[in-house]
Amino acid sequence: MGYVTGLRCRECGTRFPKQLRAFCDECFGPLEVDYDYEAIAGALTHDLIQSRPKTLWRYRELLPIDGEPTVGLHTGGTPLVKAGRLGRALGLNQLYIKNDAVNFPTLSFKDRVVAVALSKAREFGLEIVGCASTGNLANSVAANASAAGLTSFVLIPANLEQTKVIGTLVYGTRLIGVNGTYDDVNRLCSEISGRYNWGLVNVNLRHFYGEGSKTFGYEIAEALGWRAPAAIVVPMAGGSLITKSYKGFKELEQLGLLEDDVKTQVFGAQAEGCNPIAAAVKRKSTDLIPVKPNTIAKSLAIGDPADGYFAARTILKTGGWADDATDEEIIEGINLLASTEGIFAETAGGVTVAVTKKLAEQKRLPKDEPVVIAITGNGLKTTEALDLTLFNVIEPKLSAFEELLDERDWREQAAALAS
Ligand SMILES: *Cc1c(COP(=O)(O)O)cnc(C)c1O
Ligand SMILES: [Zn+2]
Repeated sequence: MGYVTGLRCRECGTRFPKQLRAFCDECFGPLEVDYDYEAIAGALTHDLIQSRPKTLWRYRELLPIDGEPTVGLHTGGTPLVKAGRLGRALGLNQLYIKNDAVNFPTLSFKDRVVAVALSKAREFGLEIVGCASTGNLANSVAANASAAGLTSFVLIPANLEQTKVIGTLVYGTRLIGVNGTYDDVNRLCSEISGRYNWGLVNVNLRHFYGEGSKTFGYEIAEALGWRAPAAIVVPMAGGSLITKSYKGFKELEQLGLLEDDVKTQVFGAQAEGCNPIAAAVKRKSTDLIPVKPNTIAKSLAIGDPADGYFAARTILKTGGWADDATDEEIIEGINLLASTEGIFAETAGGVTVAVTKKLAEQKRLPKDEPVVIAITGNGLKTTEALDLTLFNVIEPKLSAFEELLDERDWREQAAALAS
């Protein structure tokens, strides 16, 4: 099996065999995996997909591996939740949450891209893998590499959340904190990939890695009865997930696997403290101006996004939009999602909910058609963004309990949490 015909430069179109490669030799442009879609159309049916386990590998013909997958066999298949209470709060009557906060094994959407990139790394016979990460990729590469018996080197900005650091170290990875931003870490990893024959999932395996994000789109469409939603709202760091989710819808359409044409409007969400893609979209431009990140949404803190141009282009082309959220709005977004839907998202999820609220207020989102928001990471990983001042402690006495009942204004707490 395997339907990949090769790699193609997304800038100049030069073709390469499927291989480890960071960028195009001719123009330094990013690379894309090419498939034989005619052959896939002859093989892939709804019945075949639905006969397979609920993991991302049920769409394996559309993923860039040649043999059996070997990493992340249980990844994907996360719930699409009808979000009635959050929808009412935002005035959206058909709101859904694609909840990758419960992805296996490390509770973020990054498990999708790592499953694909490391399965590919093993096909290449690589024994050492790694990544440059804003946190979630570090967790996922470390966990999946250990489970696959691979050695991993993970490089992160040294100031990441403690939980993301612990959630990487625990797997026995070779974790290196770098004094600098993610963009500094990424540049260093490019140099490392030039010197060592290692598989860095988002550097020289990036074109394979990105394909894993398409499964986020496939799963949404399948759960909606093989229909692409009217709109999606996706948090953006490097701009890969948003671009590839849309590519996923378009591939299903091309293969005749959707009931209707794709009319999805694509919306992007960033933090105000790191908004190079959203700022470009607001200028109606695809020219990004890099920024120096300063936000609590550290998983989205990429100042010079590798796929930023493609993200902005997809948003503008589909009639979508992008906006950004302040740190305070991010916390409010986390609280609103938790108190309406019982889902605890990390700061990136707060960004998505806060931006969805803004877009709804701006009347940019369709009120009565399916709108899907991407919750991409788990709140237990970024608890230090929240504070504990609303927590009451009493003596184990009924009188103390009743004193608190009288004194404490619980409605005020609810209002503070859901504001
Ligand atoms: C990495 C990440 C994103 C965005 O990923 P890109 O594909 O780089 O845009 C979104 N949410 C979370 C939680 C992430 O870790
Ligand atoms: Zn090129």
